[in-house]
Amino acid sequence: MKLTLSFDNGPHPAVTPAVLDVLRDRGVTAQFYVLGKRHAEPEGRRLVERVRDAGHVVGNHSFSHAVPLGRDDRPDAVEAEIAATEALLAPLVPGPRRFRPFGDGGAIGRHLLSRRAVDYLVAHGYSCILWNSVPRDWVDPEGWPARALADCATRPHTLLVLHDIPNACLAGLPGFIDAARAAGFELVSDVPPACAPIVDGRIARPLDDIVA
Ligand SMILES: [Zn+2]
Repeated sequence: MKLTLSFDNGPHPAVTPAVLDVLRDRGVTAQFYVLGKRHAEPEGRRLVERVRDAGHVVGNHSFSHAVPLGRDDRPDAVEAEIAATEALLAPLVPGPRRFRPFGDGGAIGRHLLSRRAVDYLVAHGYSCILWNSVPRDWVDPEGWPARALADCATRPHTLLVLHDIPNACLAGLPGFIDAARAAGFELVSDVPPACAPIVDGRIARPLDDIVA
């Protein structure tokens, strides 16, 4: 069984460096989907550089993380969320471009994307990276590892969503990685094909279930 870790909603100065230390000490390469608003804060850019320099994947997770794109009625929503974050990331992370939509609690559904967002991702050569397990570390910082281990055992390759924000995954992360390895999971850095409905600007499967 394979397991890919991803960390959303950062970077955060009190958490992201510690997450990087845990991953380094255990030789794990992961994916970080960052928010434009965090990147734009003091230290944000520097933290993104640290994540990049540690060899992890850095992707775009919207700017404000306020309203899922499929429910965002602003005519400039795509520019305000995807393009504004891309403008911050592009000088640091030249590509390949990855976008993870805001799921509002982790559900996969038609709220994730708008038609305009799909058009933008295709035109700009993005991969759209979803997930297949959300153990809700931000709700249950102590209980998430056991729930995650049980869920990961139900499929051959899990792309797990965690969060490098306060009061979420960090305290349980070292023990989780050690327990996953002890249980026979291989920690990898690639994305299960079923979690990538758009690959380098190419629509890889019907999008009806994730577009408003
Ligand atoms: Zn998020």
